[in-house]
Amino acid sequence: MELQAVPEEVLADAALIRYLADVARDTALLNGVLMRTEEEPNSSELVTYAPFTLFPTAVPRGVFEQALAVQTHYNLLVDKISQDTQFLEEALASTAESDDFTGRLFNIYRQTTKEGRSQPIVLGLNRSDYMLDQREDGPAALKQIEINTIAASFGGLASHTPHLHRHVLNVAGLRDHSRRILDNNPAAGLARGLAKAWELYGSERAVVMFLVEDVQRNIMDHRRVENELWSRNIPTIRRRFEDVSLDQDKRLFVDGQEVAVVYFRNGYMPQNYPTEQSWEARLLMERSLAIKCPDIGTHLAGTKKVQQVLARPGVLERFFPDRPQVVQQIRDTFAGLYTLDQGPEGDQTVAMAMANPDQFVLKPQREGGGNNIYGSEICQVLEGVKGNSKRMAYILMDKIQAGASQNYLLRRGAPLQLSKCLSELGVFGVYVRQGTDMVMNECVGHLLRTKSSEHADGGVAAGVAVLDNPLLV
Ligand code: ADP
Ligand code: MG
Ligand code: MG
Repeated sequence: MELQAVPEEVLADAALIRYLADVARDTALLNGVLMRTEEEPNSSELVTYAPFTLFPTAVPRGVFEQALAVQTHYNLLVDKISQDTQFLEEALASTAESDDFTGRLFNIYRQTTKEGRSQPIVLGLNRSDYMLDQREDGPAALKQIEINTIAASFGGLASHTPHLHRHVLNVAGLRDHSRRILDNNPAAGLARGLAKAWELYGSERAVVMFLVEDVQRNIMDHRRVENELWSRNIPTIRRRFEDVSLDQDKRLFVDGQEVAVVYFRNGYMPQNYPTEQSWEARLLMERSLAIKCPDIGTHLAGTKKVQQVLARPGVLERFFPDRPQVVQQIRDTFAGLYTLDQGPEGDQTVAMAMANPDQFVLKPQREGGGNNIYGSEICQVLEGVKGNSKRMAYILMDKIQAGASQNYLLRRGAPLQLSKCLSELGVFGVYVRQGTDMVMNECVGHLLRTKSSEHADGGVAAGVAVLDNPLLV
């Protein structure tokens, strides 16, 4: 299926495109679709537009609605996994042994589980990502790429890109297209979740703490959510790992302020823990009374290894024993996922991948884009690890054959050229649980990201993908 949102003659009109690109950049600035620059990542003296597509991308309505509809089930699933010690133990034990980073996270999980959780309230802010698998002339099938249970980003900026594309389309004389861009406000939904958790913590003076990285180019994305919280009179601070301390009775304090909610926008990759002290800080926060978003079990529920285990026959039924329709809805979004554990099943995966590497993606337990392995490199990597336990650090996944579209990717300093593009749809989920009570469970918006098809991998923060909007067809 051809996924083209705007007519060919518009795409081919060089003068019009140059004009629209100027209009688009200014409109991005006007709407606060902003990022700090590489030169000055920690100062807003110099900002630029966050990268985005000149035009929206066509997405079939059916799959879009399917992705929204399954989100609250994914919220429940992640939350159930996070509480299932036996499941996480079985799913991750081998990976934790072969991959140091997962191992360290898992140790925190084991340790705090043994000690008992101090805080019965859980806040989940996740983003489930999909691509549309397009085989021959069949309909596009929604397939989950992954679910991000920690530091899922771009809900803030995505709340302001609809205005941007609507305006560009209006100026291009495509008013009917413009009207079809959906409203989207994940920032408000994420803030509602944070506000609910803060309220349940029950101390008006306590703050929400965004735990942030040293390099903060994407601060505007955070600020959207932060400012929503302030507008509800919820004090919000930004701190790094090295700033936290714990008081005697397990309350978490930072600079004399009690922390009600820790919202991790950091801590998802090894480089985020440069010193032992960062690991100690993570453990300390996990042990504290503060509500963690995510707690360590929820973080681990988002690993690629868990995703692969969930795709095994019968596993979803464990979490939804009397809800076959929910199981079906979730399973319908699964791509083929294969274990690399030691044993005959893992051996079979190795042989299958090496015979047809272009049909698969080899994934380590990493986040943030740029870590996956494709094509002939799959053979090289597997050749090195196939005979030992290191292979358990990876999973194998079917490569999604997404339909391409044509668009212009606007990025500071990049030439304006028509590119063949692939898109990935993200859906934001928010939930709050207090003990056994789900007090909030919602789908709060979406994110479309588009990249040139030359790049196999990489998100917006990695400098590959750009922000986009779906135009439903
Ligand atoms: P990360 O946690 O680093 O974002 P992902 O699993 O989302 O890891 O993979 C990163 C990128 O790689 C995705 O945004 C997508 O572009 C590409 N990718 C991942 N899995 C697949 C797949 N099964 N088929 C095709 N492309 C994929
Ligand atoms: Mg991820
Ligand atoms: Mg991803």
